[in-house]
Amino acid sequence: MALNLLMLGPPGAGKGTQAERFARLRGIPKISTGDILREAVHDKTEIGARAKAIMDRGELVSDDVMIGIVRDRLERDDAADGFVLDGFPRNLAQAEALSTMLKSINAPLDAVVAFNVDYAEIARRIAGRRSCPTCGTIYNVHDAGTLGITHCRNCASSSLLVQRPDDNEHTVARRLGVYDEQTRPLIEHYRAQGLLREIDAMGAIAEVEARLRAVLPQCLEGARA
Ligand code: AMP
Repeated sequence: MALNLLMLGPPGAGKGTQAERFARLRGIPKISTGDILREAVHDKTEIGARAKAIMDRGELVSDDVMIGIVRDRLERDDAADGFVLDGFPRNLAQAEALSTMLKSINAPLDAVVAFNVDYAEIARRIAGRRSCPTCGTIYNVHDAGTLGITHCRNCASSSLLVQRPDDNEHTVARRLGVYDEQTRPLIEHYRAQGLLREIDAMGAIAEVEARLRAVLPQCLEGARA
């Protein structure tokens, strides 16, 4: 049976990292709307060109655009066995559109995981976040295992790790404000549907991963159980 998951939490909560690991474990795609937009910006597509200024301000790209992106992505063959959504939905309108979309492809959500992390830790994580411009692997230059890292260990690219343009103090403050106003209400929305699993997202990646697995026992029953 397919496993359809959604990761919910503020920027810097570690959703992307955990979504990536969990998706790999289950052999299903991680669908990150932030990654899709960054790729569009990099490829200089029409959507990318329009989204860039909005992302740089820490605002949300329009619902129409985002819903279209997610619909196209979910229709791809590799999502038939499940998916881990990261960064979508960001507001109630997107959540309702997702619900309609998933009904139409008969792929109901199995769980929504909310990442709880305090704002001081978010600031620390975002200030230290770097990614490989070649393969996208994310590191934190403040973490013990990757302290001061400058180059990717995953793909051995010779390029320096880079910081996201929206990971600066000003934009992060706006992104957190947008999260509080528009995205946080989704926690209650999904709690009311009985789908919410909350985890403590403080601490090291492996600790958070263990907590994530503990709230999703169906993932331990083997891939495509
Ligand atoms: P993220 O990588 O999820 O932090 O997203 C980076 C930026 O992309 C956000 O600050 C928004 O500008 C934009 N973005 C990503 N996902 C969405 C979404 N579902 N709706 C609107 N904007 C989004």
